[in-house]
Amino acid sequence: MDEVIIVGAGVGGLTLGLALHAAGIPCRVFESASEIRPIGVGINLLPHATKELSVLGLEQALAQAAIATKDATFFNRFGQLIYQEPLGRAAGYDHPQFSIHRGDLQMVLLDAFRARAGHDRLLANHHCTGVVQDDSGVNVSFVDGPGGANRISVRGSVAIACDGIHSAIRKQFYPDEGEPRYSGVNMWRGVTRWKPILSGASMTRAGWLSHGKMVIYPIRPAGADGLQLINWVAEIETPVHRKRDWTRPGSIDDFIGAFADWRFDWLDVPAFIRAADSVLEFPMVDQDPLPRWSFGLITLLGDAAHPMVPRGSNGAGQAILDARALTTALLEHDSPVAALTAYEKQRLEATTRIVLTNRTNPPDAILREVFQRTGDQPFGTIDDVISRDELVALSEGYKRIAGYSKDALRT
Ligand SMILES: Cc1cc2nc3c(=O)[nH]c(=O)nc-3n(C[C@H](O)[C@H](O)[C@H](O)COP(=O)(O)OP(=O)(O)OC[C@H]3O[C@@H](n4cnc5c(N)ncnc54)[C@H](O)[C@@H]3O)c2cc1C
Repeated sequence: MDEVIIVGAGVGGLTLGLALHAAGIPCRVFESASEIRPIGVGINLLPHATKELSVLGLEQALAQAAIATKDATFFNRFGQLIYQEPLGRAAGYDHPQFSIHRGDLQMVLLDAFRARAGHDRLLANHHCTGVVQDDSGVNVSFVDGPGGANRISVRGSVAIACDGIHSAIRKQFYPDEGEPRYSGVNMWRGVTRWKPILSGASMTRAGWLSHGKMVIYPIRPAGADGLQLINWVAEIETPVHRKRDWTRPGSIDDFIGAFADWRFDWLDVPAFIRAADSVLEFPMVDQDPLPRWSFGLITLLGDAAHPMVPRGSNGAGQAILDARALTTALLEHDSPVAALTAYEKQRLEATTRIVLTNRTNPPDAILREVFQRTGDQPFGTIDDVISRDELVALSEGYKRIAGYSKDALRT
């Protein structure tokens, strides 16, 4: 087989490169950025994704860079505990949940890909502008960076669009789709160096979107000063938004008012936000699920295929699962067209369910239920508001839909 052309060296593209290399399928990765820098803030990898990364021999490198998350905690905006459950290995999974800086994750993948496949297998400064195909392969067109003038065309057996939420190849097949769909929630994200909060490995969600919700979790082990790098996201329903740009700076004054009185025995939230190293602003967006990803010798993967709102910690994980499914399909089918069709069959419906569930009933539905049932007031005991069984059912229901219930992972 000629080489597989991977467009985009994000989480999906690099994982696919590693999986194809391990399977003995030649590939090259083409990235728009002039150099791959560790951009972003926190990301979670749930056990279905870490299982695949362990198969690729990356668990140890990830464990050194990340926090092995131990528990999830949910609070109302008065700092009262609603629900707590173990996560990852602490919950009996065979694989951990990792909370990690996106840049650290990307560097672990990048270093492994370069060391195993070779430096010449990844080309930066290659911004894809389109792809054409004939009976025997694809020609993918690139310019030297976004807006660049120098054109080249690269021949391959198949082309895989891993070029993220603003995918050029997705636009080629769906030219009238328009901009990503705004959820009505704006996010301000940052990282703060702070002493460990709660268990020191907690994924904490608090409040609700209408008044202000916070998601807080550590993403790097503590240094000699005992401080961890802690990721936080403030999410607030906001009528206006600006186009998603992963590097757009945000202003604390635009959102801190919502959290002004969040001073709890487990965290002084305003002080924590004000101590941030930097703040970014992103709108919470996704796209309607597509009817089709594969077109002959071309297919979509990761955010290019199924961008989802980040309310279930599944964006990176689903890209990783796509990479595994596509590699398996290419190994199992002699015809690349049949392989890309089989990959779509396995992954499109599964990810559509997650995209739609993330809009309505992701894990933070627990917060919504309590917000609505209490009329946004403090409660006496949580059992008077919602039963433990209902809370467990909300949490387990999402795990089943997103494919990381313990039973699903063991079979
Ligand atoms: C810079 C950046 C920062 C991010 N920060 C966060 C974060 O803090 N938290 C979070 O939850 N998620 C973040 N994400 C999104 C998250 O990485 C993805 O949702 C998820 O990992 C799925 O990965 P993906 O590989 O499909 O897409 P992405 O990780 O978005 O990767 C897409 C890659 O394709 C490249 N690319 C784009 N267009 C072209 C083109 N035309 N030609 C060639 N290459 C192209 C991009 O530069 C990028 O490297 C970020 C994404 C990016 C690109």
